Amino acid sequence: TQPEGRDIACQLVPLKDGSMVHFYANISSVLDSEKAGQFCAEGIGLVRTEIFYLRQDVPFTIENQIEIYREIMRAFTDKHVVFRLLDIGSDKKSAYEADEDNPALGNRGVRLLLTDYKHMLDDQLKALITLHKTYPNIKILVPFIADVEEFFKVKNRAKEIAAELELPLPDFGVMLEIPSVIYQIEQMEGECSFFSIGTNDMFQYFFALDRGNPMVSSLYKLDNPAFLSLLRRILERAKSINTPVEICGEMAADPEILVKLIEIGYRDFSVSPYAISELKHHLLNTVINT
Ligand code: PEP
Ligand code: MG
Repeated sequence: TQPEGRDIACQLVPLKDGSMVHFYANISSVLDSEKAGQFCAEGIGLVRTEIFYLRQDVPFTIENQIEIYREIMRAFTDKHVVFRLLDIGSDKKSAYEADEDNPALGNRGVRLLLTDYKHMLDDQLKALITLHKTYPNIKILVPFIADVEEFFKVKNRAKEIAAELELPLPDFGVMLEIPSVIYQIEQMEGECSFFSIGTNDMFQYFFALDRGNPMVSSLYKLDNPAFLSLLRRILERAKSINTPVEICGEMAADPEILVKLIEIGYRDFSVSPYAISELKHHLLNTVINT
């Protein structure tokens, strides 16, 4: 008989080369975070905070955010937990954003936080910096960076807020999900503590393929060798500045693709908590050539 999902999810996955594969969880609700705890995620690699914001009909105030984020932290009081700043726009839009002809290339993610949604950036940074005092394991991830200047602007704003609150600054990470940023990785040395690859968007922008359009979904093949080469190059560049990089896009939840990512050299994956047992089951029964 097969062991229960949870039993497998809680096993370690050592590789022949002595390294370990680590699974974190992508979450969009408090229930997901509880499930992540049950399925032995080693932390939370991605809190999609915009989903919390888009789902509720009360204002996303600082107090309200602190309350939600505290609940998320319950099962992960001392583990790696990465809160992504609001990634609004394109496929994650509310009634308030402008209608654009090309929303995937428009005012979304960090672009929105640095323009129309500056007040929301401030509120979210205040909530996270405040909570980080209780949970120093909280990290902040900046979405949709195309140009490093966007990252530095957000980080500088966070520094000002931390100074006003007289609190320390959490670690900051950058989402790699637009090809242009790959060529700027070295400029973030010492400023960015970790990278997280959003392969859903990275693939969309690398292949000019709408991730949500069923008319082109048959072309959306994430194990395309050109894409795997890109991922190999990202890992080399991140390693050259000693900065860890994890994958948080959905591709890592495909067991066969996961093996390819491990062969390239990736060890840290953030996936849906519900996928962890199947992935570990597959890895424990697969001979990996490393
Ligand atoms: C991604 O782009 O791969 C990602 C993880 O973020 P989202 O799917 O929320 O855009
Ligand atoms: Mg994305």
